[in-house]
Amino acid sequence: MSQRSEGLRAPAAIEVRGARVHNLKNIDVDVPLGELVAVAGVSGSGKSSLAMGVLYAEGARRYIEALSTYTRRRMAQAARADVDRVRHVPAALALRQRPGVPGVRSTFGTSTELLNVVRLMFSRLGSHLCPNGHRQRPSLHVATEDPMVCGTCGAEFYAPEAEELAFNSEGACPTYQGTGTVREVDDTSLIRDESSSIDEGTVIPWQMYGFKVQPQIAREFGVRTDVPWRELARWEKGIVLDGPEEKKHITVTTKNGVHELDFTFRNARLTVTAELDRANDEKRLARVSRFLIERTCPDCHGTRLSPAARAPVIGERNLADVTAMTLEEVLDWAPDAVGAVPDEMRSMARSLVDTLLRMARRLIELGLGYLSLDRAGSTLSTGERQRVQLARAVRNETTGVLYVLDEPSIGLHPSNIHGLQGVVDDLLAEGNSVVMVDHDVQVLREADHLIEIGPGSGHRGGTVIAQGTVPEVDRDPGSLIGGFLTGRERVVVRERAGADRMFDHGTLLMRTGPVHTVHALDVAIPRGRLTGITGVSGSGKTTLVLESLVPSLRAVRAGNRTRRPEHVRELETGGIEKVNMVDATPIGVNVRSTVSTYVGVLDDLRRAYARLDAARADGLGAGDFSYNTGSLRCPRCEGTGEISLDVQFLPDVDIVCPDCEGCRYGPEAEKYTRRSDGGTQELALPQLLTLTAAEAIEHVGGLKKVRAKLDALIHVGLGYLTLNEATPALSGGEAQRLKLVSELDRRQGRTLFVFDEPTVGLHPLDVRVLIEVLQKLVDQGGTVVVIEHDLDLIANADHIIDMGPGGGTDGGRIVAAGTPDGVVGEPGSVTGRYLRGHLG
Ligand code: ADP
Ligand code: ADP
Ligand code: ZN
Repeated sequence: MSQRSEGLRAPAAIEVRGARVHNLKNIDVDVPLGELVAVAGVSGSGKSSLAMGVLYAEGARRYIEALSTYTRRRMAQAARADVDRVRHVPAALALRQRPGVPGVRSTFGTSTELLNVVRLMFSRLGSHLCPNGHRQRPSLHVATEDPMVCGTCGAEFYAPEAEELAFNSEGACPTYQGTGTVREVDDTSLIRDESSSIDEGTVIPWQMYGFKVQPQIAREFGVRTDVPWRELARWEKGIVLDGPEEKKHITVTTKNGVHELDFTFRNARLTVTAELDRANDEKRLARVSRFLIERTCPDCHGTRLSPAARAPVIGERNLADVTAMTLEEVLDWAPDAVGAVPDEMRSMARSLVDTLLRMARRLIELGLGYLSLDRAGSTLSTGERQRVQLARAVRNETTGVLYVLDEPSIGLHPSNIHGLQGVVDDLLAEGNSVVMVDHDVQVLREADHLIEIGPGSGHRGGTVIAQGTVPEVDRDPGSLIGGFLTGRERVVVRERAGADRMFDHGTLLMRTGPVHTVHALDVAIPRGRLTGITGVSGSGKTTLVLESLVPSLRAVRAGNRTRRPEHVRELETGGIEKVNMVDATPIGVNVRSTVSTYVGVLDDLRRAYARLDAARADGLGAGDFSYNTGSLRCPRCEGTGEISLDVQFLPDVDIVCPDCEGCRYGPEAEKYTRRSDGGTQELALPQLLTLTAAEAIEHVGGLKKVRAKLDALIHVGLGYLTLNEATPALSGGEAQRLKLVSELDRRQGRTLFVFDEPTVGLHPLDVRVLIEVLQKLVDQGGTVVVIEHDLDLIANADHIIDMGPGGGTDGGRIVAAGTPDGVVGEPGSVTGRYLRGHLG
């Protein structure tokens, strides 16, 4: 690359000088090139700020700079990271923690490019049909310019090229645009309740999507909206579900008076399909999917392939048969394909099969061999998607590129971690550099060089506290991670329930029938305990918890409004009535959601400030102290604390509002100050909100409710967050703990808390805090179920349900259930083997 020719010697490291991105405290650090560099530190310490915010941002910027002068000038003004100097940074690519959801046409086969090779095999090695439908022997003709000649009828024709076999192009089944399935509106899901009327809101989509005037328009058609749904005539129901998009003249009363307006009728189905068209994120898609049922295309039977694309066969199988196989099965089948072709084609066949095997090797090592090639990309889990991304990075065969990996160990069972190391080794062997943020001690131990950021989170972090090789960091007294790397320190903190008393508080029982590759299961979860669901990727953890247990419990609570999944045969709740999914998805979508609004302290504080004499004298109420809508908010940024710069060709760049410096209030707000009981300082609301929870608690004496909420924040280990911090910017782990703040002070005997890999993003020290939080939920009587790979957390579970033994068709059973010690003693449990070393 270019830096190689700069001097005689290639630079050995990226030099970062004066980095101040987010919480980084003007740090200088050298990041060795050509090695595996791991960045460690507690959550919120500044790892991503260094890895993504400095190294990736600068690497990507340099890369774009090379593109055009115009872009270069715009970028230099706006998107330069807050850093004095970064030297020797190569072009950078980032593999993100949460890759986007792929489109409907993406499958495991397409995204891994394996399908390209398989298509080529069918084009070159297949036995084809002539235009008159006579089957031909495979022949070398397909690789030449000459047409094939049918031995039976003499017709001349060309075999289809690989491209013509592609379901996402010429080989697509013409029905349903090659998606293989159709999503239709399920009429039964549109009506909440046969016994309630339209006026009572029985047409669910009109309620959900804010079409509140629709009942009134329906009346204009003559539909009775005040009688129970079941009493409506067939034509009335027809109008509601399928009626025409006609304009009707109606009278609307608002607080500003009475208006005569023309409105277009939106029937219930159309409301759903319009929402489906607009759904561009997972959340909206999930919301609208409750109204849809999927049907397999009757023409291609879900294969997405046209009849012509399904015609060529190798041995007994056509392309659709092969894409329905798992990767492992394909690899068993492919060598047989070589045997099925005439001698003169053997060498071509062998080279195609070799290519396939080479491409598949890393995917198998990453534990993805159980996925079928036609598996829709949108149904892959985050971890699976990220591993596909990783394997593809290796296939790019780049050199001199900096790869920044954000927690590649997500979803990876301890037994698959060597696969991840294999991929990193490939990238390094090709002359690339790898920087990764991770917490998994097993992964960190493999790094050539470690950079530890800390010591604390937020403004208590942001410095380099240790760096060097693993042994060097271990010896460094400033390091917090060192002891965990060598096993000197252990996370184990919790007292576990013994096997004899495990089910004392009751049992949640579920019997399921087979679904996907998961077999019928008999599941017993102890109430009031911490249960870990473990197993390699694809073994059925998600199916058990998120597709079976959670929806069946929800169905019980919802009465008849939602149905229990069909494959769940029996459920005994054991006294559990409600499910609380505590995921790590960001809280709120816009910057208006802050820590203070989320935990509810802002409401109390606004009222307290409105009670001040000065505020009363000026006629201000609690509403005026809201940064969202109040009169005191900063007019420049309208209370968001930041403004967007419009940069051409790039997503908008957000910067801190120059007027209020991010405090969200205008200067007027500074006039109203209050002093806490016994406090010494007069603080205005904007000032108070810039304090951390731990600092603010010193200033809110007397405001009991506020104190209690701040206390709870400190208890879940988030005392370092400032009150006006925007919640969407919080890390997954922070968001997860914030969601629990209001749960910890209540009895929870009727609640099941479900966590899906809560250790994502967590340092071993954070895992300690997490375990304490889980302990509090259990202390309140809560039942906790955790899907997890982290051995330190699993070692802390009272009860473990281990799925497996493998993934896909090799898994789907419960291989062991019991205490951690019990599972370690089970010879069939892979998890047990790895867990042994982690029990204190
Ligand atoms: P880590 O990767 O170690 O978990 P981060 O680098 O994500 O930590 O965050 C370091 C600090 O910077 C935290 O206090 C976090 O809240 C803050 N931060 C992260 N992203 C942003 C952002 N977009 N704007 C402002 N602050 C941020
Ligand atoms: P885990 O959570 O342990 O990784 P999952 O429950 O996600 O495992 O998957 C179990 C099996 O079910 C795997 O073989 C997986 O490929 C299959 N599977 C999961 N979801 C779907 C789906 N939507 N369509 C088809 N197969 C699926
Ligand atoms: Zn502002």
